[in-house]
Amino acid sequence: MAARQVAAAGAHAILFDEKMAWEKPCGGGVTYKAYRQYPFLEKSGSVRRVTRTCLHSPGAGAVSLTLDKPMLIFSRRELNQLLLDRAAGAGAELRRERVLGMRREAERWAVRTAAGEVKADFVIVATGARNPLRDTGTAFQAADTMTALGYYVPREQGHIDLEFFGGFEGYLWVFPRAGHLSVGICGKGEAATEMRARLERYMESRGISREGATFYGHMLPSLEASSWRGNRLAGDGWLAAGDAGGLVDPVTGEGIYYAMRSGELAGTLAAEGREAEYAGAVTGEFVHDLAYASTLARRLFLGRYLFGANTDRMIQFLRRSTRLNGIVQELFAGTMPYHDLRKQIKSTLHLTLTEIGVNLFLRRIVSEGNE
Ligand SMILES: Cc1cc2nc3c(=O)[nH]c(=O)nc-3n(C[C@H](O)[C@H](O)[C@H](O)COP(=O)(O)OP(=O)(O)OC[C@H]3O[C@@H](n4cnc5c(N)ncnc54)[C@H](O)[C@@H]3O)c2cc1C
Repeated sequence: MAARQVAAAGAHAILFDEKMAWEKPCGGGVTYKAYRQYPFLEKSGSVRRVTRTCLHSPGAGAVSLTLDKPMLIFSRRELNQLLLDRAAGAGAELRRERVLGMRREAERWAVRTAAGEVKADFVIVATGARNPLRDTGTAFQAADTMTALGYYVPREQGHIDLEFFGGFEGYLWVFPRAGHLSVGICGKGEAATEMRARLERYMESRGISREGATFYGHMLPSLEASSWRGNRLAGDGWLAAGDAGGLVDPVTGEGIYYAMRSGELAGTLAAEGREAEYAGAVTGEFVHDLAYASTLARRLFLGRYLFGANTDRMIQFLRRSTRLNGIVQELFAGTMPYHDLRKQIKSTLHLTLTEIGVNLFLRRIVSEGNE
């Protein structure tokens, strides 16, 4: 996204990526918010459009939601290729090389790869969560990341499954992709071996065989509320976009949209010589809200309401409340800022509880599911 903007503005953009299009460990889920803003995403041939989602927890059973705004699920190899083609189409030069280091020389950069050195006026760092260019981008502390791991399973299904566990700060997903499933788990505060065991127990309980499946593991930025302050998004001659800037939703783990949007902003502003505005622009547009979401994530996953885990209550209430269903739809679509979501939940809580009470009394279920 950044290279495309720079090249489209008429500057010489060189995009270095050591792997180019590859199956980056990822669910590949793209929200309505993302494809509304970038309609070219919807036109990709191999994308899956998924409308049915099933939420489950051992304590509350299941509830099924039909998403008003479907989620698109990509193979990351194809999403990456799509974005690379767009950058090349705008005139960016693509080089499949690893950047080994960068040195600041007067007002320029010397960017070093195995093939030699390139001089650059400006650098946009989009090297992901395991950014090896340590002096640029977010300086992650251990608490600022989630572990994310899973399997690509050669199997088909038409819907998304999400599993919550009371007392675990994270969740498990089954995403249907073209030709296979991405079955994974992400979370904080638990060792990777325990999370993998949790995931494998789930797969066994659902009859999802690991035979022929490929394991993947990676880290996912999940900045603590305090780490957003002072987060390094920009410096002398550089900007950081995407995971390299920690730009991931700490509740849902959504990072593709934020990587695309921050890359686009970084490229546009750098090409116009307005790079000083970048940190303020991303902060105003979404960092404030992501920072607020950091304060909610732990409460959502680990908190309790009416003597039960919040996630259990969410599933139970979803079965009985159209009002809550509407709010959760917004969460899946990514269209409502967390500030507004929280406000709406609080201001309508009494109405939601009344609706649940009435529907319990009438034994009426508004979203199907089982206890
Ligand atoms: C298991 C898992 C599941 C996820 N699921 C979802 C999901 O369903 N939906 C969603 O929105 N987000 C999801 N995310 C988050 C999402 O994958 C990231 O937020 C997103 O990929 C960030 O994009 P990026 O371009 O910043 O970094 P990346 O996609 O990590 O890309 C970084 C690129 O930099 C290259 N690179 C790194 N170092 C160098 C170097 N020194 N020289 C040259 N090239 C280099 C790499 O080859 C790579 O191609 C998930 C993450 C994980 C780990």
